[in-house]
Amino acid sequence: MTIPLLDLKQQQASLGTALKEAIERVLASTAYVNGPAVAEFEEAFAAYCGTRHAIGCANGTDALEIALVALGIGRGDRVVTVSHTFVATVEAIVNVGAEPVLVDVDPATLLMDPKALDRVLGETERVRAVIPVHLYGGMVAMDHVLGIARKRGLAVIEDSAQAHGARYQGQRAGSFGDLATFSFFPGKNLGALGDAGAIVTSDDELHRRAAAFRDHGRTEKYLHQRMGRNSRLDSLQAAVLTTKLGFLDRWNEGRRAVAERYHATLPAAVGRVAVTDGCEHVYHQYVIRHPKREALRDALKEAGVASGIHYPVPVHRQPAWRDQGLPQLSLPHTELACEEVLSLPVFPELTEAQQSHIVEALGRALA
Ligand SMILES: *Cc1c(COP(=O)(O)O)cnc(C)c1O
Repeated sequence: MTIPLLDLKQQQASLGTALKEAIERVLASTAYVNGPAVAEFEEAFAAYCGTRHAIGCANGTDALEIALVALGIGRGDRVVTVSHTFVATVEAIVNVGAEPVLVDVDPATLLMDPKALDRVLGETERVRAVIPVHLYGGMVAMDHVLGIARKRGLAVIEDSAQAHGARYQGQRAGSFGDLATFSFFPGKNLGALGDAGAIVTSDDELHRRAAAFRDHGRTEKYLHQRMGRNSRLDSLQAAVLTTKLGFLDRWNEGRRAVAERYHATLPAAVGRVAVTDGCEHVYHQYVIRHPKREALRDALKEAGVASGIHYPVPVHRQPAWRDQGLPQLSLPHTELACEEVLSLPVFPELTEAQQSHIVEALGRALA
């Protein structure tokens, strides 16, 4: 038996001819850039997230940069986020000329610790915004983060690249912050057939600025209010995403069922990552913890099971962090997590037999 971390072949097969038909429609329209397929997706995705607007763009990293630019954040400003994330969250802050300030995670959930956030904000000047990251498909306790940010007049951008469809207190990821950003990298819960991303917001002015900036600062065909850039969403990707959006809730339900079976059957010695109270998780990753992670990983490999590590090196320990001349930090919960986390296969089509095989391999390794 060989079990991949994620099986996109099965997902594609389950879509039948729907994807091909969506692609054919764009082909026939020849409106490959800024076609009606983009507006259609933006409308559908905003409705799904529970926001007034969605703005398609080229990828999730650009979405973060565009959100920061829409808020007017740049040189001289500081933005607080976590080190336990994909590098893009921090990269976007650096790329707009602002300085990233990193806080530690809650050791149970591995998400931004609101207490650490409050402490750092009390000690740091020139902070303009906070980027909580809904890592692994779980959600940060947004009421706490919003309360802390609002008290100090800071903007909030939710990095929702791993949390399409997740809910906190009944409300979707992306609908809490001033803006939120999504990636549709193929392996995400909602994935394009290549790179793609989006920003969502319910603020009309932020929507106007972000929409213009991703299309050369354009407000009319040859009228450019500000210098922008080209980070448009392709019509082809938009059509694919609209088609797949119709399946997202079912897929997330499938991921949750897989996660529940893991919760129920994994050996007691396997460390778990807690879910934030009030969060409906969408399990972009199913992450366990163990001090002997490498031994578990080897045992899985021997059993034909792929696994992942999200992430092995925290952002503040990356050569790129030093290269920017950013300060040496000590974030103990983040550093320990990076040594212990292990991501197991999780996708809606994973069968019970495959899961038993995975759990048994872990059991043997721990015996
Ligand atoms: C995937 C991801 C991004 C970046 O998205 P791209 O589309 O790959 O640029 C940003 N933040 C997080 C947390 C991600 O997982």
